Amino acid sequence: MGTKAEYPAGRAATAHRWEELAPGVLRRRLPGWDATVGVITGPAGVLLVDTGSSLREGAELRTEVRELVGRPVTHIALTHPHFDHVFGTAAFAGAEVYGPHGIETVLTRDREELRDDATRHGLPREEAAEAADVLVAPQRLVAGEWTVDLGGGREVLLANLGPAHSGHDLVVLVPGTDLSAHGNHSPKGTSGLRQHAPVVFCGDLVEESGVPQAGPDAHPARWPGALDKLLELAGDDALYVPGHGAVVDAAFVRRQRAELAAGLD
Ligand SMILES: [Zn+2]
Repeated sequence: MGTKAEYPAGRAATAHRWEELAPGVLRRRLPGWDATVGVITGPAGVLLVDTGSSLREGAELRTEVRELVGRPVTHIALTHPHFDHVFGTAAFAGAEVYGPHGIETVLTRDREELRDDATRHGLPREEAAEAADVLVAPQRLVAGEWTVDLGGGREVLLANLGPAHSGHDLVVLVPGTDLSAHGNHSPKGTSGLRQHAPVVFCGDLVEESGVPQAGPDAHPARWPGALDKLLELAGDDALYVPGHGAVVDAAFVRRQRAELAAGLD
């Protein structure tokens, strides 16, 4: 990459794992279950999308994000109550935690089920038990839409689009810059605001690495409708970041929607 010499070895290794999707918007695919975590930065805060599959992974992410962006995580958005997306939350003491309305019930009432589900998926039993013991239920519950202001014009939209993949599904949208406003006049490389397309973290409403996983808490009949809302929200030009797999486009999401709808017949 040619940038290696600019960083201490540790930081270069960390940065290597993260994919920059827009200025200050990054994501990493975690090992094990290939769950995606996202980072969105603004002058006033750093928002993390999902927290990993164990406390150990959450703690690793905490250190890594601090290294990567030079500041600690201040906000967390949980996309849905599955172990590989929420088990690391307790590693981020002091962060403001958001989630779709209803997720708090699952994360408090159904701890044992989450622990057992994680164990079935191969997480060591002690790690699953530890994470389930200290599960954090969000203080901030989003029923419709909510905007988190990270300062400097960076506003992040949280939208509750569930139930679909799970009983409670939230997506996180970073709006794109207005391409027409900058036109061709901003001198290349001098503008602080690099133009970028919208980026939307879809949770497991979209999956690229395999067919969308529908567990016992899925609502298959409502899933296509949730994807319609997602497409409407993020638009044709957005980068769609699936819960598992490579970043996709609107056409991919439309195909997945059609497949899900066909599966209902
Ligand atoms: Zn899931």
